[in-house]
Amino acid sequence: MHSYSNVPKGDWVRTTYLSQNANCSLAGGFSEKGVGQVDSHLRDVGRCTHLLLYLYQKELWHDQMEADILIEYGPHIFNESKELADRQDWEALSDDEEQEFGIAVQPGLVFETEWTSDKAQLRMILDRCGLMHDEGMPIAYSFDWKFGWADPSADTIQSKCHVIGLAAKYPEAMLFNITVFNGRMFKPAFREYNWDDVTRFRQEIGAQIDAFFRQKKSGRKARIGAYCATCYYREHCGDWKELVNDTSEWRGQKPEKVAKRYMAMTTTTADMKAHLEKVTKGDSGPIQLPGGIVGPYLSQKSEIASTTDLIKDWKQAGGKVEDMIEIASLGVTAGKKVVRQISKQNGKNYKELEEKHIRKIPVAKFGVKKQ
Ligand code: SF4
Repeated sequence: MHSYSNVPKGDWVRTTYLSQNANCSLAGGFSEKGVGQVDSHLRDVGRCTHLLLYLYQKELWHDQMEADILIEYGPHIFNESKELADRQDWEALSDDEEQEFGIAVQPGLVFETEWTSDKAQLRMILDRCGLMHDEGMPIAYSFDWKFGWADPSADTIQSKCHVIGLAAKYPEAMLFNITVFNGRMFKPAFREYNWDDVTRFRQEIGAQIDAFFRQKKSGRKARIGAYCATCYYREHCGDWKELVNDTSEWRGQKPEKVAKRYMAMTTTTADMKAHLEKVTKGDSGPIQLPGGIVGPYLSQKSEIASTTDLIKDWKQAGGKVEDMIEIASLGVTAGKKVVRQISKQNGKNYKELEEKHIRKIPVAKFGVKKQ
C-alpha cells in the first residue's frame, strides 16, 4: 500500500493538486500544502472505507483489526465506513493485479519511475489496476472507488492522469480502461482510451503541471467563481471571507460583483442548513427563536389514500387503466421503478432500458451552475 508520506519533498504534483489548480491556483496551492478542508467528514469516511476495502480485497482483514481502525478514525467514521465497505461488491485481488498502487512518472510523463524516486514529476495512487487480455489484445485498466456525493466521471483530470500512469506502467497495453465507481450511490462511469488519447493527455497534463509551478513561483491568485461553491478551502481563503463578510449595499454594484456575492451567500446558507439539519436532528431538536423555530417541523402534504380504490372507481366509471396512467402522467421516479421491474422480469440490461424510456429535456432554471 503506497502512501504520499514516504516520498521526497520537492517539485512534484499529485493528481488532486492539478484538479484543484485547474479551477483556481490558490486552491491548487492549498491542496499542495495539505491545509484542512471544509468537509473533512466525507474525506475521512473515504479514507477509512478505502482502507477496509484494501484489507478485504487483499484478504488480510480479521476482526481484531476493527479495534485499531475504530480508535484511529473514531466510531462515527468507522461505522459509516464499515457499512459502506460491506455493501460493496468486491473481489479478492488476483496475483497479477495491484491495489492502492503508487505510480510515479518522470518529466515528459512517458516513463514510470520508482515511487520514492526524486525524479518523479507526477504521482498517483490507483485503487486497483492491472493488465488483462481480450482476444489477445492487452488492455490496462484502473478501478477507482469514490464515496462522496458527486456523480462519478471517467473523464476528469484525475482519470487523464491515470491513463498516463497506466501507459507508463504497462507500455505493452493497446487500450486503457478507466472505471470510476461511486460506492455510495452505486453509480459507475466507464471510458476506454487509446494511444492517441495518451499522447493528447501527456500534452494537456504536462501543460497543467507547468502552469502549476509557474503560478507557484509567480504567486497564486484567488479566482472567485462558481467553483468556490464546492471548494474545500473556503475557510482558508481570504478573498472568500471578504466576499461573505461584505455588508455594503449591493444595489448599484456591477452585476458580476452581485453575482459573486449571491453565489457566496447561497453557498453559506446551504452550509448552514446542512449544519442545522444535523444539529437539530439530535437532542436539541428545533431551535426556538422569537416568533418561530428553525429546524424540523411537521407540515402537511397531500397523498393518494389508496391507489387500488382509485383504480377501482376509475374502472367502475368505465375508464381504462392505460388512459388513467396517461392522464396521471407517470413521474420519473415511478417510471424508473417500472423500468427496474421490467429489467428484472425480462432480464434485459437496466441501463439500456432506462436510456430507451427515460429521456433528458432542457429546462430553464436560475441559480449557480458549475461549468
Ligand atoms: S474559495 Fe474560491 S477563490 Fe478561494 S481558494 Fe476556493 S476556489 Fe479559490
